[in-house]
Amino acid sequence: MTGVDRSSSAFREALELYQRTPLLELARLADEKRWEQHPENVVTYIIDRNINYTNVCVADCGFCAFYRRPKHDEGYVLSFEEIGRKIDECIEIGGVQILIQGGHNPYIPFGWYLELLRYIKTHHPIHVHGFSPSEIVFFSERFGLDVAQVIRELHSAGLDSIPGGGGEILVDAVRRRVSRKKAMTDDWLAVQAEAHRQGMRSSVTMMYGLGETPEDRIEHLFRIREVQAETGGFTAFICWPLQPEGTPTMSHMPKADSLSYLRLLAVGRIVLDNVPNHQASWVTMGHKIGQVALRFGANDYGSLMMEENVVSAAGTTYRTTLAEIERLITDAGFEARRRQQDYTLIDAPAFVA
Ligand code: SF4
Repeated sequence: MTGVDRSSSAFREALELYQRTPLLELARLADEKRWEQHPENVVTYIIDRNINYTNVCVADCGFCAFYRRPKHDEGYVLSFEEIGRKIDECIEIGGVQILIQGGHNPYIPFGWYLELLRYIKTHHPIHVHGFSPSEIVFFSERFGLDVAQVIRELHSAGLDSIPGGGGEILVDAVRRRVSRKKAMTDDWLAVQAEAHRQGMRSSVTMMYGLGETPEDRIEHLFRIREVQAETGGFTAFICWPLQPEGTPTMSHMPKADSLSYLRLLAVGRIVLDNVPNHQASWVTMGHKIGQVALRFGANDYGSLMMEENVVSAAGTTYRTTLAEIERLITDAGFEARRRQQDYTLIDAPAFVA
């Protein structure tokens, strides 16, 4: 991996675009890229369920309202049976994947994760999108295994793809300030690249509003672009702002406004024109901005999620139904289509609202 040269003309141009281009001009440029990559008038979405298998965590991220320290009364680890029940409920409403992530829990042995994956694939088969790069680096350090081996074992036990959780801002100076116990940038990206080399796909994220500079945000995009140029394994980019309410050390931070979200989404589509899909984050921004985002580079409306504990713990709870998602996409002028994790379209059965 190489660093990003902030004095290069490509970097300065992207920064200029982000900071100076009039909003609707930026939208037009992002929309052009979107249509180049997706000429069909379709906006996709997925039905899935976010399962947070444990909230016990030793990473102490300053922006996280979800975790509990070990031995805290409210700490939990879900049983296999509880996870199985949640999967069945997801499948009942037409769900096609689970997103399974958790805290960095020092009490869970590696065998538990492998058994869990085998249990899911045997008793409740579904696409498993799980274990963020930060968790994988934690497993590697905790269990004394190299990252490639951790990924290989999880993959062969049933893990299908990897989410972009824990990406936040991929600049070490920022990470050291807000999540210093978690994987640093090179390690986080190395997990993604290794997963791609082992034939898995993954998504990639940005959570911004952590006190980073505009240059940091552009550097984050350039780092992703660099990995994608090498591996081609990222299916989608998703960005959203910090939800400061209720967080341990960041509740004083200003909440990002809608226009700054749209600017970032748009510049993300333009810089990351080698990542095929860009998601609108209605969970954090609400449906009105979710719809507008479809003209600022997004071609995917994300997911009808049954649970989102981490974001909702910080006080953000936009909820929706299947019928509403389809109506919102249609009202924005697109054909709504359901998809799988790899963005292949699936024919939807009748509405389950
Ligand atoms: S964001 Fe994840 S890693 Fe950080 S404290 Fe919360 S649960 Fe732990």
